[in-house]
Amino acid sequence: MVMTLEELAREASTCTRCRLAQGRTQVVFGTGDPQAGLMFIGEAPGYHEDKQGEPFVGAAGQLLNRLLGEIGLRREDVYITNCVRCRPPGNRDPLPDELEACRPYLDGTIEHVQPRVIVTLGNFATRVILGRPVSISRVRGQRFDVNGRVVIPTFHPAAILHGGGEASSQMASLRADFATLKALLAEPPPVPADEQLGLF
Ligand code: URA
Repeated sequence: MVMTLEELAREASTCTRCRLAQGRTQVVFGTGDPQAGLMFIGEAPGYHEDKQGEPFVGAAGQLLNRLLGEIGLRREDVYITNCVRCRPPGNRDPLPDELEACRPYLDGTIEHVQPRVIVTLGNFATRVILGRPVSISRVRGQRFDVNGRVVIPTFHPAAILHGGGEASSQMASLRADFATLKALLAEPPPVPADEQLGLF
């Protein structure tokens, strides 16, 4: 790796690779522990994130913080980022070429942080990380292996805020997926193949 995470973030801060550069207040790169074993990937910054320069600080972020707290974690313990790092105008969905333009920052972030577990929040992050046009409601809560990392897709917290609310089945699924995550984090990390006894 040539650059550090800070250098990558500095490069991103003046990025003009796509049209989202024109409307942003600032680039929202990521936050949390740069050595975290657990990474959350959302979709794109919203109004509050664009203003404050930090992902998940609005209403969806409050819900994410609460869900983290319920499994004994604080946002400082994990790394939180997004598929695209500039706010799409009016909070529209990111376009394919914007996702593509921002992909090197996402890949670079994963490469630096080296999380054992990645939680993808919603359809966009899940499709980007799994590399397939899956539907979040079909794959949520399952464990996928992507380049040796465990990926667990779950609903985006904003889906609860804009959809069914606290009593919804989506909220129950989100909680269940965080329980799966808690259990996974309690498992001992897998022993690398070259350290396993009896193989050679
Ligand atoms: N939604 C996202 O996907 N990301 C944020 O940072 C905030 C809301």
